[in-house]
Amino acid sequence: MTTADGDGLLAALRGIVGQSHVLTGEDTTGYCADWTGRFGGPTRAVVRPADTAQVAAVLRTCNDAGVPVVPQGGNTGLVGGGVPRNGELVLSLRRLDTVGALDPHTPSVTVGAGVTAATVQRVAAGHDLALGVDLAARDSATIGGMVATNAGGIHVVAHGSMRQQVLGVEAVLADGTVVRHMTGLAKDNAGPDLAQLLTGSEGILAVITAVILRLVPRPADTAVALIGCDDPAGALAVVAAVRRVRPLAVEVMRAAGIAMVAEHAGVPVPLAPLPAWLVLVEVEGGPTQLEEVVGDRPSAVAQDAADARRLWQLRERHTEAVNARGVPVKLDVTVPLDRLGAFVDRLDAIVPGAISFGHLAEGNLHVNLLGEEATAANEDAVLRLVAEHHGSIASEHGVGVAKVGHLHLTRSAGEVDALHRIRQAMDPAGILNPGVVLPVRRPDR
Ligand SMILES: Cc1cc2nc3c(=O)[nH]c(=O)nc-3n(C[C@H](O)[C@H](O)[C@H](O)COP(=O)(O)OP(=O)(O)OC[C@H]3O[C@@H](n4cnc5c(N)ncnc54)[C@H](O)[C@@H]3O)c2cc1C
Repeated sequence: MTTADGDGLLAALRGIVGQSHVLTGEDTTGYCADWTGRFGGPTRAVVRPADTAQVAAVLRTCNDAGVPVVPQGGNTGLVGGGVPRNGELVLSLRRLDTVGALDPHTPSVTVGAGVTAATVQRVAAGHDLALGVDLAARDSATIGGMVATNAGGIHVVAHGSMRQQVLGVEAVLADGTVVRHMTGLAKDNAGPDLAQLLTGSEGILAVITAVILRLVPRPADTAVALIGCDDPAGALAVVAAVRRVRPLAVEVMRAAGIAMVAEHAGVPVPLAPLPAWLVLVEVEGGPTQLEEVVGDRPSAVAQDAADARRLWQLRERHTEAVNARGVPVKLDVTVPLDRLGAFVDRLDAIVPGAISFGHLAEGNLHVNLLGEEATAANEDAVLRLVAEHHGSIASEHGVGVAKVGHLHLTRSAGEVDALHRIRQAMDPAGILNPGVVLPVRRPDR
């Protein structure tokens, strides 16, 4: 087998996954651009293995040929880490979509990396359980991608990020070695935790092929309200109040974003005049749970499930409404809650037209720069402002290629060097997602 030339490589890959699962030319289009339209490039081929053995054989072949590989799940990532940049091969994991045994005792479920979040939610709901992480991209985002990015989403305040849901992992290293730790034990300290190392690794250390996910009880009743506030301090008072009940979600939006969603999606806004800041809260239990949270603030409390869905649309359709305005520069940042007000004051001075919304309980703001404000200089200024306020430049979407140049702002030189060493040990030829998270190091360094 000759894999040095493109034809030999493709023939070898077709021999592994079958003729129809090696896509080239126009058939690769849907895999080559990211959700925002900001990132992407050509690929020599998209390869769609059906199982772990095929993933291992594909990686072994690419490693031997020195061919770079971009792992891809649902392609809903927002930082350019899951799409080719310079002709890399795309390894699509979507066909690894087996849902295995659900263990009602732990409780947990074993799934292939290509299973979507929505599928896990459906399966879990049949047992009165839920996946602790939920996000608006649920119909396309895969469990492999969500573990690889340590996805957060709307329920972190209740259940944590993906990191807290992973009880076991199976993955394939760049050279095709399969590593499995799939005991699913709630307590297991037999050495460093491989699953945790791979969580948030954005496809640069290994390709995740299967995961054991912790499941959480599905609340019998929930109540939803949209609450108006004058400023960040008012919004933080809602966070403090909601922590006294059983919060499931605490989301923040601003008047400009709400108006944009209302116009784009035709979703009615139940509060007039529109407050400057709006907090969407969902709590476990009935509407009485919300009485103290709402207090005498302007508010709309959902009376039924349809009402609740409408309120949620105001939040969940922000990303889509932003995209409809053009290709945004999306910044996904965290600032400590006690610095939120000071941060926002400075942010508004730098980019007054930005659309900001996010997961308030964690201080996670998605800052979207649009039109004339979508410049590299503004991106740099905002990320430096985040660092100045002791925040993180990559809250839940990851570093991808979007923030490689800014990683040093919130990770020390020692940390970055340790990450390079781990990567070098696990993928010596550097074929997995080069240029994602870490800058490519020249061989002489
Ligand atoms: C409308 C919308 C709302 C969103 N809301 C949220 C939100 O609330 N919270 C949040 O955290 N994110 C959110 N996202 C971002 C995105 O959905 C998450 O990052 C998600 O985890 C990506 O999953 P994916 O399967 O689409 O991964 P992809 O986009 O395909 O890949 C993402 C990264 O993971 C790597 N990867 C993918 N699969 C594997 C694998 N099997 N093994 C190793 N590496 C792999 C890729 O190389 C890439 O670096 C949102 C996106 C959209 C479009």
